[in-house]
Amino acid sequence: MKKAVFFDRDGTINHLILNKKSQSPKTLKNLRLKKNIIKISKYLKKKNYLLIMITNQPDVSRGLNTKKNVNEINNFIKKKINLDDIYVSFARNDKNFRRKPNPGMLFEAKKKWNINFKKSYFIGDRYKDIEAGKKVKIKTIFFFDKNNKEHNQIRSNFKITSLKQISSIIK
Ligand SMILES: [Mg+2]
Repeated sequence: MKKAVFFDRDGTINHLILNKKSQSPKTLKNLRLKKNIIKISKYLKKKNYLLIMITNQPDVSRGLNTKKNVNEINNFIKKKINLDDIYVSFARNDKNFRRKPNPGMLFEAKKKWNINFKKSYFIGDRYKDIEAGKKVKIKTIFFFDKNNKEHNQIRSNFKITSLKQISSIIK
């Protein structure tokens, strides 16, 4: 069985666009990667972890963005940080089994890649990421910054404020 590090996308791999409400970038032009994401992905690859992105993109079913734009951003990230795979949920209903906080996408990845969750990690910046991770008993890493007011209520295995800190957790 393989080990993997799962990454959320918006707010974890790339910056959110901060308007009244924080939003995901709509087009590649608006994409800004987080500091250290390239460095840390190289580090994890060297440690033989699969790198897999797990992302909710409900703007598509809300009619606020297109699949084409989302896929363009995802493919760019995939090349940039050498991801092994990407799982996307376009659903907006939390009852959808693929949409985080539900674990559907994690199970799909586990089956396809033969992943051992016990040796794997899920890194995300939202409650929904940590919940999805807990449901499959993977180790969870909550990545937050000063714009995120949720962090006091989050019960993750680890908390980080910089992606650099991943290298002191995953060895
Ligand atoms: Mg996020």
